[in-house]
Amino acid sequence: MDNKKLAGQTALVTGASSGIGKACAIALGEAGANVVVNYAGNGAGAYEAVEAIQKAGSKAIAVKADVSQKDQVDAMFEEAILTFGTLDILVNNAGLQKDAPFTEMTLEQWNYVLGVNLTGQFLCAQAAVKEFLRRGMNGHRSLGKIICMSSVHELIPWAGHVNYAASKGGVMLMMRSLAQELGPMKIRVNSIAPGAIKTPINRMAWETPEAEQRLLRLIPYKRVGDVADIGNAAVWLASDESDYIHGTTLFVDGGMTLYPGFEDNG
Ligand code: NAD
Repeated sequence: MDNKKLAGQTALVTGASSGIGKACAIALGEAGANVVVNYAGNGAGAYEAVEAIQKAGSKAIAVKADVSQKDQVDAMFEEAILTFGTLDILVNNAGLQKDAPFTEMTLEQWNYVLGVNLTGQFLCAQAAVKEFLRRGMNGHRSLGKIICMSSVHELIPWAGHVNYAASKGGVMLMMRSLAQELGPMKIRVNSIAPGAIKTPINRMAWETPEAEQRLLRLIPYKRVGDVADIGNAAVWLASDESDYIHGTTLFVDGGMTLYPGFEDNG
């Protein structure tokens, strides 16, 4: 198998100082891509990712930017393009939760989650597309690839997390609308929808054996996901092997979206 299937390409991964984003950045680097490792606050995590990518033989830089702020996003893309010449792959991963019962959810909590999870993806996608169009075709099958990190909650409603579920539902139709609009320009746009993956965002759901057992009731495949499950999917979706996959959400969820409540006759 060609394990450097992204050689000669540059990827930018947002929120790549921990969890899924860090794993995607390292996996893309291991597949031969130069990687721009974006982080918001955790510089140490970002530099660990940079080091791991360099160890795998690829180039990487860490760039600090809050993806919900246009000026910071524009500066980050400028630095990425100055360093590596252009950009081929965007992994729109940065995301967070600010949970509250609906009547207690503040406007700040609503705006904060929508700002990072949805507006952040819009701003980064727009900057990436402008660069793809400026650069033109460069020997790969598409002009560029955008991978949006969605969630099973683009489909499954989530009480107590209305802001988060709304943001991921928004990502779903943003991704599909972008795919429709940008397909004719040979820009490929897809989402990955993780189920339950062990990361800091959901530590409470898996860190004790009791919590993990409760979580497994929601997963027909009876395994909590690892960040590598998502990293592998991102590499494939970014590669020419998936060139005809466009406007799709790839659920990587051990079957969480299969209505597991019906496992035992409902
Ligand atoms: P995480 O908390 O480890 O990672 C989120 C990353 O986003 C962090 O590195 C954080 O610093 C970064 N971030 C937050 N605000 C930012 C901002 N304004 N600008 C730039 N970066 C910012 O959690 P994770 O589980 O790795 O989450 C990554 C993505 O995967 C998120 O979009 C999340 O919604 C999605 N997701 C995760 C799971 C899961 O089970 N872990 C399931 C479904 C979807």
